[in-house]
Amino acid sequence: MNPHSDVQLYKIQAAVLREKGGPLRIESLEMEGPRNDEVLVRVVASGICHTDIAFCDDWDESDNAVVLGHEGAGVVEQVGKSVKNVKRGDHVVLSYQSCGHCHQCRSGHPAHCKYLREANFGFQRLDGSNALKRSGVRGHFFGQSSFATHSLATERNLVKVSKDLPLKVLAPLGCGLQTGAGTVMNSLKVSKGASIAVFGTGAVGLAAVMAARLVGADTIIGVDIKPKRLKLALKLGATHVIDNRGQDITARIADITGSGVDYVVETTGSAKMHQLAIAVLNPHGVVALLTGERGTDSLPEGRKTLGIIQGDAVPQHFIPKLIDLYQAGQFPFDRLLKFYDFSDINQAIADSKRGDTIKPVLQISEA
Ligand SMILES: [Zn+2]
Ligand SMILES: [Zn+2]
Repeated sequence: MNPHSDVQLYKIQAAVLREKGGPLRIESLEMEGPRNDEVLVRVVASGICHTDIAFCDDWDESDNAVVLGHEGAGVVEQVGKSVKNVKRGDHVVLSYQSCGHCHQCRSGHPAHCKYLREANFGFQRLDGSNALKRSGVRGHFFGQSSFATHSLATERNLVKVSKDLPLKVLAPLGCGLQTGAGTVMNSLKVSKGASIAVFGTGAVGLAAVMAARLVGADTIIGVDIKPKRLKLALKLGATHVIDNRGQDITARIADITGSGVDYVVETTGSAKMHQLAIAVLNPHGVVALLTGERGTDSLPEGRKTLGIIQGDAVPQHFIPKLIDLYQAGQFPFDRLLKFYDFSDINQAIADSKRGDTIKPVLQISEA
């Protein structure tokens, strides 16, 4: 007997990607209700992250249609039988998914999960099933596919949050902001007095700037090509900024620090910036690579590069910590956000690509 034959079906609305480059179109779909280990979340808001846009632009049309979105936040609507830590009505922020069984997950390092790729980019559950199958669409992106009115998550990728804070503000903590702040605080463990350059002052880079300030770095240099973003970097804690359109980065950094920097957070993914990051590094310095590259420790004088995923953060620990820092005024990430109606998702993506909006957040339902 098929154990899922009596499965409940929900009518949801989701932004579906059917062709390379979009546009995303909001469609009515049928989604299965939660399995024993799953939580059905009514999505209140979702951030749009660079990874959503990259998937959209690189999509292979021969594949099935998919639902993207991985910075969801919402209200628990229904829980499966084995779910223990959340109940109907709880507010939750969604983050990346991990398997929970491999050595890395069991030793508290879910960002290094053996099945990270399958669990986040497989567009299916780890057992190969897909709750949107009846509609011919694939979901489960980052274990959530949050560009939708409803999302299926598990206890591994949701974080219960206080009802006192607006979910639409908290939504983007689940990926980009966690990655930028976690890189500085968990992966690099930047210490008081250190010098750091942040290449690319989008949402991830600005989160790194704010985190560098709060751990007490002395010199924090923001590098970008958008004057508006550089201005914001200065307000959020950068001690210096370099406009990469006209200024020589190596010479400016030598000017500012008298040598190089102890750390570079490289968020642009450009090969040229990757090389430059190594060139401006002090001996024993570290470059954090945040766009999927692998690191190396075979550089001269103890320098190394590290490929970092999700700032090595355990969402259930790190997101509450970021919320505390936000409430204490030390991590004012709300200054990066711009809100859009769900139906304006393509406009939000276009604004983000042009660099006009640093962190677009879709408002999908009432809190
Ligand atoms: Zn795992
Ligand atoms: Zn992301």
